[in-house]
Amino acid sequence: MKIAAGWTLRCIDCGAVFESDPPGYTCSRCSGLLEAVREGGALSRTDLFGKPGEGIWRFRALLPFDADVRPVSLDEGRTPLIRAVNISKTLGVRNLHVKNEGQNPTGSFKDRGMTVSVTRAMQAGVRVLICASTGNTSASMSAYAARAGVRAAIIVPSGKVAAGKMVQATAYGATIIRVDGSFDDALSMLLGTISGLPGFSGMNSVNPYRLEGQKTTAFEVYEQLGFSVPDYVVLPVGNAGNISAIWKGFKELRAFGITEKLPRMVGVQADGASPIASAFWRGSDVITPVQNPNTIASAIRIGRPASGKKALAALNESNGMVLTVTDEEITAARRLLSSKEGIFVEPASAAPIAALVEIGARLEKDAVVVCVATGNGLKDQETIEINIDGTPLVADRSGLTDLLERLATQSLVRA
Ligand SMILES: *Cc1c(COP(=O)(O)O)cnc(C)c1O
Ligand SMILES: [Zn+2]
Repeated sequence: MKIAAGWTLRCIDCGAVFESDPPGYTCSRCSGLLEAVREGGALSRTDLFGKPGEGIWRFRALLPFDADVRPVSLDEGRTPLIRAVNISKTLGVRNLHVKNEGQNPTGSFKDRGMTVSVTRAMQAGVRVLICASTGNTSASMSAYAARAGVRAAIIVPSGKVAAGKMVQATAYGATIIRVDGSFDDALSMLLGTISGLPGFSGMNSVNPYRLEGQKTTAFEVYEQLGFSVPDYVVLPVGNAGNISAIWKGFKELRAFGITEKLPRMVGVQADGASPIASAFWRGSDVITPVQNPNTIASAIRIGRPASGKKALAALNESNGMVLTVTDEEITAARRLLSSKEGIFVEPASAAPIAALVEIGARLEKDAVVVCVATGNGLKDQETIEINIDGTPLVADRSGLTDLLERLATQSLVRA
């Protein structure tokens, strides 16, 4: 399949340039990661912004598709950027904004990328979309497959898989296939098989089209801040596609003459799954996989980050950093964000807020900080304890009146 006019795919390792998609979306010379590159000249702000289009497709000027391609869209993107007025003091960040990606069609930012990778697969006449995932990638892929009218297959490890995570994929009609082995086994088996199979297309993180969609987060943040670039973008990092994509988005705004400034990228990993943080602080560009990644934040429970190399480049180029947080800090930050700002996120998405508890007060006083809240809290309900027996019980109307009168002046439950 030829890529759109003015675009190529380039290998980030050996520099090979492709004018059509190589099998498996990786470099056919060295197996390196590919990146979409636009050859065109400068754009004006009005070339990119204020255009019509479903979801992220309003940013077509910077998407690798010809004008006549019809997108497979669920109107993803256009998510709120909320000024976090209630917690900013606590965190020592006066100018704090939360980009609430949980408002996407399947509840995470994955939809931004999936609309693009699925649209590309449909152009190529694919009949089955496939990925190895037990979480948000599988939910998103299944929804867009349903929308496109093709099959979805999800490869999962044979060991215990939290049933709750597969609810969405099941609802959207995906076929679930178990592989005898670990998650990494499942993924490498899939990647090894898929490129030779006609009619199939892999939707895992190495697919460069996903990052093309995810980079639109940068465009929206810029737009929502009144056409201005924030000082810091803070986000959780697992396979590291999203940090690479958002950085690419800001870089393109600059490369095509729309902005001059760039933000500093701040990645956040969980203590028990921090291979990128380790490499970054060692000053190394070699990422040593973590054998048994462990954290409550399942979306970033990744030991072998697929886009690790791109992420390290984003961190170094942007003069950024990666921080680590504990599960306790993540849980406390999640509660802070929901109970003080009304934004309920899944554990991974609270990691940036947890990191700001640590470093917020050390940032420049007027720094504009954007935290990316990557996924909806309803996706991860098992991690919230509900103590219904501990709540007040009333027997009659006078009991209720009594209780409500007290409620007006004091809190009946633990804050
Ligand atoms: C996928 C995901 C992440 C991690 O994103 P990467 O691109 O893998 O680094 C973080 N949070 C949520 C909710 C996710 O679904
Ligand atoms: Zn290569």
